[in-house]
Amino acid sequence: MSARYLSLSPFFYSTVKPTPVPEPQWIAFNQPLADSLQLPAEIASSEHAAAVSILAGNTVPSWATPFSQAYSGHQFGHFNPTLGDGRAIVLLEAETATGELYDIQLKGAGRTPYSRSGDGRSPIGPVLREYLVSETMHTFGVPTTRALAAVATGGWVRREESAPGAILTRVASSHIRVGTFQYAASQGGKERVQELADYVIQRHYPHLQHAKQPYFELIKTVMQRQARLVSHWMSLGFIHGVMNTDNCSVAGETIDYGPCAFMEQYNAQQVFSFIDKRGRYRYDNQPHIAQWNMARFAESLAELVRLPDETNDALIRRLSELVETFPAMYEAQWLQRFGAKIGLAQPTTADTQLIKDLLSLFAEHAIDFTLGFRYLIGELKEQPEAYATRQLFADPAPFLAWRKQWQQCVGKHAQALMAEVNPVLIPRNHHVEAAIQEAQNKGQLERFHKLLTALQTPFNEQHLGSELAQPANAEEQVTTTFC
Ligand code: AMP
Ligand code: MG
Ligand code: MG
Repeated sequence: MSARYLSLSPFFYSTVKPTPVPEPQWIAFNQPLADSLQLPAEIASSEHAAAVSILAGNTVPSWATPFSQAYSGHQFGHFNPTLGDGRAIVLLEAETATGELYDIQLKGAGRTPYSRSGDGRSPIGPVLREYLVSETMHTFGVPTTRALAAVATGGWVRREESAPGAILTRVASSHIRVGTFQYAASQGGKERVQELADYVIQRHYPHLQHAKQPYFELIKTVMQRQARLVSHWMSLGFIHGVMNTDNCSVAGETIDYGPCAFMEQYNAQQVFSFIDKRGRYRYDNQPHIAQWNMARFAESLAELVRLPDETNDALIRRLSELVETFPAMYEAQWLQRFGAKIGLAQPTTADTQLIKDLLSLFAEHAIDFTLGFRYLIGELKEQPEAYATRQLFADPAPFLAWRKQWQQCVGKHAQALMAEVNPVLIPRNHHVEAAIQEAQNKGQLERFHKLLTALQTPFNEQHLGSELAQPANAEEQVTTTFC
């Protein structure tokens, strides 16, 4: 078993108790997830008398040593040396049957030593959004934190308007981020960076322990995970919204769901987040930002990677060359993902243009990204199909020209392949927003639970006719998201 995060120097964390809330009540409990983990009995079921109180932070069981993590981070490109979990507290580092650790973390459980001027709380809206989106990402097969539970606090949180408070319990394979390394490098020094790097290798990448240059290999491995992760996001139209270095997990999971959203009409420049005024984290900039974050990661490990007698120039050149391999890693992953979306199991670079041509058609004709791909299956059916991509075009002629070319490339397993990677359902913003509004304003959770249930089978073609599968009409459209 890997050592726990708490075995690191206290430099990396602060122990802290959650702040009790007035009246905890269940919003949701993810029993299948709980069953797949080895949890202490008190939080293994919502039926347990103590569970809601523990996951609200009102009771701290004897097995818990709650702590918050210290980290730095580039926020929208600007370095902030002292961030840290301002509203997140790890309750427990639990262990799977096979000995891997995972964090059970409470988001919105009160102030911590890293809260600065924040209240340490979360309104119900972001809790519900994260629950829906992170669980959907999991069903899509995207590495992600999971949602174990959501609890209403019975208190109010002051933002622009007051809103009911809530606490999300999330599960992650760890919360160590690029920002944790930046913190070690900028506030600690080489010894702290080495301590952290050794820990990450042991916990996440034990196969690197025997590598000739484990720290150099660590950078490369984390780059590969990011390339895989971001290409997966791209293939689903997912826009994270806040790809700051403190929101970039070294384990390669999607973490920190804030003003994230899935795009509807395909638009490579799409931005939803109200704080992303300049579009730094727009859809098509995500791979570039991932590379930028990997450059910051490499910098923070530079002293560990330095060869005997290596000059600064030589070291920087070597690390730059490594980081410059990111686009090729990403492109290879992108081609696999988008190739599969159009039914090609083994796409080659010769197929890249075919994919890009389809995306150009989607952009030009404002085609829904999700349905545009999913309905391609209908284009391969013998019978005339209602759910066929051509139906999404006002004038299908340019699409039919593309289809002619495409049909020459696809093999007989294309339909099955496409059905596995092109979801029918995504958490569409207007449905997420409606569920949030109902919970926030009326205290009703039916919409949330209905949406959550449907999103557990996003690839099921039974959803094809469902209202949940349809893009928002003009009045319903949500163009901005908040966190
Ligand atoms: P994020 O954009 O969610 O990654 O948050 C950036 C930083 O602000 C992190 O250090 C958070 O812990 C902190 N933060 C966000 N919201 C709050 C809050 N309500 N109270 C205290 N700290 C917060
Ligand atoms: Mg964060
Ligand atoms: Mg956040």
